[in-house]
Amino acid sequence: MSRVSSSNSPPKKKRRASKKKSANASASVIKIRGVRQNNLKNVDLDLPLGKLNVITGPSGSGKSSLAFQTLYAEGQRRYIETFSPYTRQFFDRMDKPQVDAIHGIPPAIAIEQSNKVKTTRSTVGTITEINDYLKLFFPRVAEATCPECQQTVRPDTPTSIAQRLPDCFTGQSVLITFGIPVGNKAKPSEFFEFLQSQGYLRIHIFGKTWRTDETFPNKTLPAVVDVIQDRIKIPASSKRPSARLLEALESAFHLGKGKLSLHPAESGSNNSKPMSFSRNWHCADCDLDLHAPTPNLFTFNNPLGACPECRGFGRVIGIDLDRALPDPSLSIREGVVKAFQGNRHQECQVELELYAGIRGIDINAPFEELLKADQKWILQGEHPGDAEKAWSESSWYGVRGFFNWLESRTYRMHVRVFLSRFRSYTKCNVCEGTRTGCSQLPGVRKNTARNLAAPHR
Ligand SMILES: [Zn+2]
Ligand SMILES: [Zn+2]
Repeated sequence: MSRVSSSNSPPKKKRRASKKKSANASASVIKIRGVRQNNLKNVDLDLPLGKLNVITGPSGSGKSSLAFQTLYAEGQRRYIETFSPYTRQFFDRMDKPQVDAIHGIPPAIAIEQSNKVKTTRSTVGTITEINDYLKLFFPRVAEATCPECQQTVRPDTPTSIAQRLPDCFTGQSVLITFGIPVGNKAKPSEFFEFLQSQGYLRIHIFGKTWRTDETFPNKTLPAVVDVIQDRIKIPASSKRPSARLLEALESAFHLGKGKLSLHPAESGSNNSKPMSFSRNWHCADCDLDLHAPTPNLFTFNNPLGACPECRGFGRVIGIDLDRALPDPSLSIREGVVKAFQGNRHQECQVELELYAGIRGIDINAPFEELLKADQKWILQGEHPGDAEKAWSESSWYGVRGFFNWLESRTYRMHVRVFLSRFRSYTKCNVCEGTRTGCSQLPGVRKNTARNLAAPHR
C-alpha cells in the first residue's frame, strides 16, 4: 500500500504547482531537450503552447518520431501516471521516449493521418472520433427535467429513497405501497380475495388503510389500488438504512413494475404528503415517461438523436431572404425586394408601397436605414407566421408570406424556377445548427444540447 500512495502523491503536487503556471500557459512553451528517438540526433527545441505548430522535413527526417513517439507519447504517459495503478492497467502503455528532458507538456491526443471520406455529415467530432466517446459519456452525466413540474428526474433506487426519507418523514411510520390495477368489472370482494391469496392483508385507499379480510363498504374500487408492502418507522437521524426498509422498497418496486409510493401511516397525520418514486426515467409526481438517455440520443447520426427538422445536417434548404433582398441600400421604391421586380409579381410591389405608406414608413429611404421593427414588418408582415390572417384582413403579408404562398403553388413549372433563384442552405431554425434533436425532447435540458453541439461545429 505504501508503494501505491508514494507513486500517487508526486503528480498531485505537480498538478497544484501547474495551476499557477496555467494562467499564463498560452505564453509558455514545451521545452524539449536532447531527443534521440529513432533518427533524431540530440535535438533541442521549444514549442509555443496554444499555437499551431507545423513540423516539416524530408521523408525519414523524424517528423513522426518527434510528434507521435516523443511529444504525444510523453504527454499521454504523464497523463496516465495521474491515475491509480488499478486504472492504469486499462490503458495502452506507451514506451518512454528517448529524451533527456521535456518540460511544460500537457496531456495530449493524437489524430493519425488518414484520408477519411468526408461527407456532409462529417464534423471535427466525427472525423477525430471524439464524437464516439462523447455519445457514451453524455448519457452518464445527463440530467432530465420534467416538462410539467420542472423538477429534476432521476431513476430512484431503494438506497436513494432511503437516504431521502429522514428529511421527509422524520420519526414517523410510513406505509410502503405499490399500485395494482383493478380490472374494469372486478368487485371489491373478488379483488380482496385475490390479494389475500397472494399474501397481502392490507391496502391503502382514499388515505385510509383497509384489511383485505374485511368487507369494503363501496361497490367499486379505484382504477389502481395501493397495496401495502410494509409499515416501517423512519429513524430521526440518517444513519444506515435498515435491511428491512431496503428489502421492502425493493419488493415494492418489483411488484409495482418500477413504481412505489410512501404514505404517512398515522391516520389524520398531515405532516407529510404521500410521495411517489420511480425506478425509471419517469416523473412519479406527474406520471410522465421521459426518454432514457441512451448513446443514440446523443449523436446526430442516429435518427433518435438527430434534429427532426434538418435530420442532423444542421442546415436546411429554404428561401434565403438575403437573396430576396440582395441590396439593402435600396429603398422600397427602388426595388429592395428583388423578388417583387418584374411583371409577374408587380402587384406585390404596389401593395408593399401602399401598406408601408399607411404604416408611415418612408418608401424612399434605404431599407438598411429603416427601424429594425419596420424591417421586420416588411419581411414578416402584420402577423408573423400567419400570412393567411394578413391576407384576410387586407394587411401586409410580408416577403415571407409571399414566398409561403408561392411554395403552395410549386405544381407550376415557372413557380419552381422562380423559387429556385431564392433558395439556399440556411441554418436550421429548430436546432440552431447544432444538428442534435436533444433540445426538442421534453425533459432534456437545453444546455446539455448546447454542450453536445460544441464538437460538431
Ligand atoms: Zn413532473
Ligand atoms: Zn435542425
